[in-house]
Amino acid sequence: MEKIAAIILAAGASTRFGEPKQLLDWHGVPLLRHVTETALQADLDPVIVVLGSHAEAVRQALGTHGIQTAMNWRWEAGMSTSVQVGLAALPPDTSAALFLQCDQPLVTADLLRTLAKRFRKTGAPIVHPVYAGRRGTPTLFARRLFPELAEVSGDRGGRDLISRYAKEVTTIEVAHADVLSDIDTRADYERLKQRCADDRKPPSEPEPGDAMALDHVRHLIVDMDGVLWRGDEPLPGLGDFFTFIRQKDFNFILATNNSSHLPTQYAAKLARFGVEVSPERILTSAQATAAYLADIAPPRTRVYAIGGEGVLHALEAHNFELAEENAAYVIVGWDRQLTWKKLSTASLLIHRGAGFVGTNPDKSYPTEQGPVPGNGAQLAALEATTGVTPIVVGKPEPWMYREALRRMQARPETTAVIGDRLETDIAGGINADITTILVLSGIARRADVAPSPYQPDLMCEDLDHLLHVLANDE
Ligand SMILES: [Mg+2]
Repeated sequence: MEKIAAIILAAGASTRFGEPKQLLDWHGVPLLRHVTETALQADLDPVIVVLGSHAEAVRQALGTHGIQTAMNWRWEAGMSTSVQVGLAALPPDTSAALFLQCDQPLVTADLLRTLAKRFRKTGAPIVHPVYAGRRGTPTLFARRLFPELAEVSGDRGGRDLISRYAKEVTTIEVAHADVLSDIDTRADYERLKQRCADDRKPPSEPEPGDAMALDHVRHLIVDMDGVLWRGDEPLPGLGDFFTFIRQKDFNFILATNNSSHLPTQYAAKLARFGVEVSPERILTSAQATAAYLADIAPPRTRVYAIGGEGVLHALEAHNFELAEENAAYVIVGWDRQLTWKKLSTASLLIHRGAGFVGTNPDKSYPTEQGPVPGNGAQLAALEATTGVTPIVVGKPEPWMYREALRRMQARPETTAVIGDRLETDIAGGINADITTILVLSGIARRADVAPSPYQPDLMCEDLDHLLHVLANDE
């Protein structure tokens, strides 16, 4: 795997703050140590801390475990000198470096992992977080920019490069402004410390009457199978749930990883259960994939598609040209007419450099007789043949949820996802920084939650229980 390093810029003198920020107490450890531990948790390798002002005291406070330090003797000449020292300390097999400030305590290991993952998937030369359209740090620079980065001067750091490569920059949206906030003043320090203490509170299971839990939520992204119905049976409370969210003006999108059906087919199924939902409110992973592709490729781009009519229809609706020859992208959704010929065509195109995009990662599809190969199994065959890892759009990747947000013109912090699977619905919500609600009417059981790495913000028995929770927040 490509090696991504962390370079933590900790040479500054904190003149405006009045004391070395590196040594500020952060819930029992020096702030810089907290930041280095976050980088280590994110599996960045190596983690290099660039020291300058107060170097000896800061070095002592850091501990020794797992980090390297590099000394910037010219720290007073500006941040760029620390960038140069950090770059010089990198081992030659480094693919990219994430530059961290020592005074952004709410940057999480998850965010660092997401930035690294985005680089691995897209190969973008620069990846950085944004909040409400504003650029933030930490910033990842790919190896091919190291020579230019080593020439920046003064305190501008990599900003000139970000402008120079604006078209190729990739961004990650974060849920709260504070995630990217730095400590400039004593008031910032107190506020961020309080915020951190709040974030550490464990998730709560709401009882009907719990008034605080969802008061920020105005938009819902709702999974269908296991939440609204099971197989061909509507789940209890289905009609009341839609009546309620319409009365209370919640905006909503129904989102499914299934790529094979058309939104109109889901709308027809809901109509059979007595619920009218317009097809525009239904988002399949095939549509999310076509929308994702429309963001990175111009109209009329030739794409080779494997998949059912859901996939073909979505790509055509976005004006892509379905073609085998000279296709620039291979799009793979679940295909019950999959053949060796299709896999061979896709493999050869990917081998020649076509982009490789999967609608959803579900390895198997449940049937009454047991599991049969799902789209993840098709992707695995192509990955085994070509050695290329696909970009996957469906849950648990954040793309489909981001498309749902775009359709509702919603922000992550006013939105909740509702789903029945921890490893897709809930993990996807966590990856997209959206509030997560697990309903226990589908796949996940109560006992599955505690051992899972994907902890929902809230848990509800079923739609009825969820309706009470939403209602009590009014
Ligand atoms: Mg489900």
